[in-house]
Amino acid sequence: MTDLAVPPRFLEDVYQAASECNKCSLCQAVCPTYVTNPVEWETARGRVSLVRDAIEGRIELRDIADGPLSTCLTCDNCVAACAPRVPTSLIVSRARMELHDQEGHPWGQSLALRTVLPRAGALRFLHRLSRAAQVTGLHALIRQTGLSRWLGTPGALMDHVGPLPRKTAYQRVRELPEAAQPVRARVGFLVCCYQNLAAPGATEASMRVLLANGFEVEVPRLACSGLPAKSLGDREAMVDMAAANVDVLHSLKVDVLVGDVASCTAHYKQYDTILASDSLHAVAAQRVAQRTILATEMLADAGQRATLGPLRWRVAIDEPCSLPIDGTTRSAARRLLSDVPRLEIVPLDEAAMCCGGPGLYFHDQPERSEAILQRKFEHVVASGAEVLVTENVSCLLQLRKGAARYAPHVRVMHVFEVLNESMETAQRRSANLPE
Ligand code: SF4
Ligand code: SF4
Repeated sequence: MTDLAVPPRFLEDVYQAASECNKCSLCQAVCPTYVTNPVEWETARGRVSLVRDAIEGRIELRDIADGPLSTCLTCDNCVAACAPRVPTSLIVSRARMELHDQEGHPWGQSLALRTVLPRAGALRFLHRLSRAAQVTGLHALIRQTGLSRWLGTPGALMDHVGPLPRKTAYQRVRELPEAAQPVRARVGFLVCCYQNLAAPGATEASMRVLLANGFEVEVPRLACSGLPAKSLGDREAMVDMAAANVDVLHSLKVDVLVGDVASCTAHYKQYDTILASDSLHAVAAQRVAQRTILATEMLADAGQRATLGPLRWRVAIDEPCSLPIDGTTRSAARRLLSDVPRLEIVPLDEAAMCCGGPGLYFHDQPERSEAILQRKFEHVVASGAEVLVTENVSCLLQLRKGAARYAPHVRVMHVFEVLNESMETAQRRSANLPE
């Protein structure tokens, strides 16, 4: 353990961790922002050192807000290369929260994080409004006139997401079949609010695969997990959203809670830490965190029972940064796809490196995000893959944008969309229908 130089001014909880960096520089080559802009403050070493300077009073956090704090993807790719395991994304996230505590929050961000995202009803209204804008042509007009840029974050999201599907994931649940018998377990499904609106087909595919594999699916009405509030540094909003979701989830009569969005599910698993000092919610939050698991991991561990048909596809797997570095979660998608007959999984260079799409990074750092995305697709094209698989909604949308721009022959799919398509192929075969 490193000796701490001075009493910390703030961020006592990460001061020790920020002091563990030994300046070895092994984090440089694996940092997506450093490889696209090789300056010292883009590395974990540089960012952590500057946060430590702020904690010890040599600089102010506002001096490093634009750059060292804002350009970090909080992807933790550096941690995999770091012997002392300096938790850079945690240190950067906590520094952003401290900065917002000191300087306040932009009003538009507060409105979104405290009024819209915590309310399932407000999210439904937003979907109706966006759909109406699309159907009437207002959406296209907003884009053509450049108004989407003027609208800031909501406009950027409109552009990034593209046309919204007519039905949300919650609406599609009503059309799903019963679980295949015999039932193996009953799962509570953690619908990601972003995927619910922007890529509900992926959520539907996940549920169909679980049902076909003998898992009963219960779908509680949730608001946002609170992850965007964490990324943007709004601690209060993050805690409030976690507490509201724990109120819904803790009494759910299910064996386990599963999510099909890696970052969102990982955030639910942190509810015990987020609500540790909330005497009303701490125990229930611990139970929610302990019972939460990524759907791919649960199914890969349990084994697939549904009949899978052949897919003659060359597939590359992109690994979301939010998957844990250690353990078997990261290999779950590969284990599941290995069960699909005729599917060829090809290696992808820098598969674990971020695609530049987390949170609002594509909006806040558009040039950096694009450079990272372009590098990702150089590797995708070199891999020879026809299908690129992921299990995170922001990656799904970012990679679809990248495919449209740099590799139009590549389909980008959620891992459960691939499994669902394989199941449908098997069903068509057994019914003697054309594939
Ligand atoms: S790899 Fe870890 S210890 Fe080495 S310079 Fe980077 S943050 Fe510091
Ligand atoms: S968290 Fe990601 S972007 Fe930030 S320093 Fe580490 S590797 Fe670089």
